[in-house]
Amino acid sequence: MHEPVLYSPHAHHIDASLIDPDALEVIRKLQDHGHAAYLVGGGVRDLLSGVTPKDFDVSTSARPEEVKKVFGRRCLLIGRRFRLAHIRFGKKVIEVATFRRRDSDEGELIVEDNAWGTPEEDALRRDFTLNGLFYNPLDETIIDFVGGVRDLERRTLVSIGDPLIRFREDPVRMIRLLKFKARFGFLIDDETERALNTLKEDIIKSSEARVLEEIMRMLESGHSSSFFRLLQSSGLLHLIFPHLIPFMEGEEGETIFAYLSKADLIQNQFGKSALERPILTACLLFPIFEKELKAAQASSEQPLHLGEITLAVHKLIHEVVTTSFSRFPKRLSALMSQVMINQFRLTPLIPKKGGFKWRFIESRDFPDALKLLKIRSLLQPELKEIYAKWMEAFKEKAHKGERAPRQHQWHHPKKKWSGGNR
Ligand code: ATP
Ligand code: MG
Repeated sequence: MHEPVLYSPHAHHIDASLIDPDALEVIRKLQDHGHAAYLVGGGVRDLLSGVTPKDFDVSTSARPEEVKKVFGRRCLLIGRRFRLAHIRFGKKVIEVATFRRRDSDEGELIVEDNAWGTPEEDALRRDFTLNGLFYNPLDETIIDFVGGVRDLERRTLVSIGDPLIRFREDPVRMIRLLKFKARFGFLIDDETERALNTLKEDIIKSSEARVLEEIMRMLESGHSSSFFRLLQSSGLLHLIFPHLIPFMEGEEGETIFAYLSKADLIQNQFGKSALERPILTACLLFPIFEKELKAAQASSEQPLHLGEITLAVHKLIHEVVTTSFSRFPKRLSALMSQVMINQFRLTPLIPKKGGFKWRFIESRDFPDALKLLKIRSLLQPELKEIYAKWMEAFKEKAHKGERAPRQHQWHHPKKKWSGGNR
């Protein structure tokens, strides 16, 4: 066992008021019952960087049943292989995990007793040094087994242990590496970078669901544009979405990044749930789709009708979705197609003689379509006026007392943003 480096309260700048009082309560109670319990992972990293963490994970020496004993009915044990405790505070959940060791003997049956570990082992099983820190909020000490404080100060991402082994063990860590780089703008240490280059092809061996989930979370993060640039320059994007590459590297490439940048702007301004996944994924495909449709319209005598537009969207998705990684869940794919098709209700390819078909406002698809139009109008100033008209009509409808479609009540902007300016 190695001794950790300890940082006492005057050696760091954690602002304890950023810590969730319920997480504090959980840690205090566990410690009162004689267990070790710390704040761990991304939460400590964010606190050290002065950012309010999204969630506060707790690790403890108490076994799941012991945690259950301390918290009683508040506590729900979940998971089969590694049971976790969820402590409920109203709608909020604080996740409590027992210290465990690295799970490298794949295929070997893990008997519960040999899965648990010491605090040191629990730190060493984590991915990057900045994610491997423990914090005891009661004496305000940071416990560093991995050199994470130094690497955070150096603004550098470093794998815990040999990156060749750690990336082979779980290739999703390579995507997580780029996620943290995009989010914090940190450097990647040389050995970790070399391992990414050597092992990038392993990404296709990993779970599609986990890869897609990390990508979706990054689309929502407000840093999607830099994340996609990193995915592209590392070559990971070529493996995950090979058929998006010709577009990303072609004429539409910069437009796609511009869409992502505007989406990032909105997420950062209005909160991370301002734009839903169908709109965010549409940012990747709409620039390609619009260009194709405009070309098709230019060579057609009649205005394209919605049936043709629908066929074109399906064809494009079919072309791009060629690996199991690029196959979005069915429902997401359907909603994304709808958002793209509906753009041509909002901005017809050929302006209609009788003006807009305002009834579209009544549709439950309208608010999402309006949000993508907002992004388009940030990039194409000539769309600003049309966007304003639709927005005004939408507001008018709400003022008349008609309920806007569920989930999209624009007059509760704090709850959910539905495309308007605030
Ligand atoms: P975010 O702020 O995006 O939630 P995070 O670092 O908290 O980032 P989580 O997915 O919430 O990421 O994971 C919590 C912690 O679990 C991480 O900080 C890290 O210590 C550990 N962890 C997560 N994924 C892995 C992985 N694939 N391999 C090793 N450790 C991991
Ligand atoms: Mg987290």
